[in-house]
Amino acid sequence: MLDLKDFEYGELVKYLTGIGEPKYRAKQIFSWLHKGVASYDEMTDISVKTRRRLMEETYVSTLKIREKYVSRLDGTVKYLFELPDGNCIESVVMRYNHGLSICVSTQVGCRMGCRFCASTIGGLYRDLTAGEILNQVIFARKDMGERISNIVLMGIGEPLDNYDNVITFLHNVNNETGLNIGYRHITISTCGIVPEIYRLAGENMPVTLTVSLHAPNDKIRNEIMPVSHKYNISELIEACGTYFAKTGRRISFEYSLIRGVNDSAECARELAGVVKDIHAHVNLIPVNPVEEREYRSITRRGAEEFKKILEENGVNATIRRTLGADISASCGQLRKKVL
Ligand code: SAH
Repeated sequence: MLDLKDFEYGELVKYLTGIGEPKYRAKQIFSWLHKGVASYDEMTDISVKTRRRLMEETYVSTLKIREKYVSRLDGTVKYLFELPDGNCIESVVMRYNHGLSICVSTQVGCRMGCRFCASTIGGLYRDLTAGEILNQVIFARKDMGERISNIVLMGIGEPLDNYDNVITFLHNVNNETGLNIGYRHITISTCGIVPEIYRLAGENMPVTLTVSLHAPNDKIRNEIMPVSHKYNISELIEACGTYFAKTGRRISFEYSLIRGVNDSAECARELAGVVKDIHAHVNLIPVNPVEEREYRSITRRGAEEFKKILEENGVNATIRRTLGADISASCGQLRKKVL
């Protein structure tokens, strides 16, 4: 059975005209799917005959809300969604001044092995389909009853390790017949798969790229991020430079501060040297302690000192505001608990 949400709009047109439907049918169905209908029966302007025909080969995919938590501190909402095969993924909706932003998952589990991360414990189960990535936005929006204006691909999984499905998702979520979310309002977070950064730079989609750097040199990065053995920092920075040149989108770097690992003044100075030339922004995140891992976070004061050194060396930096601290909103933590 086919999930029509896995089709790009053009493919949907082709499929429907192939089974004898007029071209405009694609627009109607695409629009219904993106509204989050639960079945073909809800597509009231489509004839019963056509609905029956569709049901022969295709189905309307949905996501079940298995658990939902709302932060009393800031209204952040965390969903544990259940996929049709019983696997679970997490999505988080955050409220900012400029609107709602959703953080979506791209894989069930992850094979990147970052040492501080909960999502990679247990490895990769499978990629999410384009429809499954999209359904997180569709069903969170439906449940919230509000427009979602920004998307970050920063949940469970490595987006660039599920490249084709992520691209299909981006095209569909951007389509004006559907949710119509602009590329400039979408951010992809990657641990740094260099060839795929070049590929993305050539897609002609001005999405923001944020790179999980977490270390100022290969020695430290090798210890905490296995992907670093494959692509070193200088290759990574070169790819980021190309991305910026081709898309005009400024890169930002994520840097989780881990006590005694990457938080020294020396690290801050070295980091400034690494990112300065490509005019990147650094997002400092006090590492979120994960039960199974030995890493400890640094103090707010320590983070501020680190930030000050970056700024003194000409680098823009912010310390990530913590949202949803009372609902374990960091990705991977909830799914693991349920497993
Ligand atoms: N695979 C992608 C996106 C998912 S992870 C990536 O690596 O960017 C989203 C972000 O959370 C990444 O920057 C990741 O390094 C960071 N992260 C993972 N576990 C963390 C933890 N325990 N504390 C702080 N940040 C963490």
